[in-house]
Amino acid sequence: MKKILLTILVLSLFKTFALANEVNVFSARHYDSDIQLYEKFTAKTGIKVNIVSGKDKALQKRIIEEGVESKADLYITADAGRLGAFASKGMFQNSLTPAIKAAVPSNFRTSKWTGIAKRARIIYYSPERVSANDLNGMTYEGLADPKWKGKVVIRKSNNIYNQSLVASLIKNNGKKATAEWAKGVVANMARDSKGNDRAQILAVAAGEADLALANTYYLALMLSGKKGAEQQAAAKKVLPFFPNQEGRGTHMNISGGGVLKNAPDPDNAKKLLEFLLTKEAQEHIVNNTFEYPMIDGVEPHPLVKQMGLRFKQDLKTKVANYGKNQAAALEVMLSAKWK
Ligand code: FE
Repeated sequence: MKKILLTILVLSLFKTFALANEVNVFSARHYDSDIQLYEKFTAKTGIKVNIVSGKDKALQKRIIEEGVESKADLYITADAGRLGAFASKGMFQNSLTPAIKAAVPSNFRTSKWTGIAKRARIIYYSPERVSANDLNGMTYEGLADPKWKGKVVIRKSNNIYNQSLVASLIKNNGKKATAEWAKGVVANMARDSKGNDRAQILAVAAGEADLALANTYYLALMLSGKKGAEQQAAAKKVLPFFPNQEGRGTHMNISGGGVLKNAPDPDNAKKLLEFLLTKEAQEHIVNNTFEYPMIDGVEPHPLVKQMGLRFKQDLKTKVANYGKNQAAALEVMLSAKWK
């Protein structure tokens, strides 16, 4: 009898151990390099990482529908607007450990989720058609100036990066002023909004527009040649410009993650988040995705450095505002007939 009890005890301990040594990551980030990163984590900790990747909407829907049955421990995605909107549905539990708090500046995290890498949404211009003088003191607000009529390209209003940018404008300038601004931007568009971020840069390179809005890592990605020789050549025809340098600074966003409310193993999820904020992991991230590191003491990729590092980041506008103002942002864009 004693022997049987002991066997049961050993088996149940083994089961606990086996469960404790896994973490299930639901990731909407579409980088193969993230998989290598999880392998490094496993090598270091012995914790196996199971990855479910997919589009944001599908992953979120699945996590919500599976409820308490959900096996998802950690949700990782790009854009604070997405994390904030998901958090507002009560999907995360407290994700912050002292190590995460120490690593991440407070404007890039909430108690429920944290940034793991940064990106800026900036202006790209044609140096052939736009002089540095024309851009002197240029701001996001200035994109609505009639002097840019027919010269601006930016993607659709359903794009989360744009929603987060507009949400930050609402936070800083109010909804009414931002609604006027959106009308001005639409009036300045060189064409109806279409395409991804790289398509906006390509439009400026092709002479279809003079100014484009896109995230920083896309120019570096194009310059790297990973998107082909044509995009590499196009990227060389534009220059980056960091807006709002004389004011609050350039609009910043994040890739990030949070521990899910029904996580079977929240401790392992926190360990993985902490690992993603170590120097080793941050170096891996920035060299593969061309994002900016979240922590101090890590250098971005040389192609990102080349774009200029000494710009003022908007560290005043907490990224938590992007989710909060998301509905209002979409509303002002749609009422301005932003496609
Ligand atoms: Fe992106």
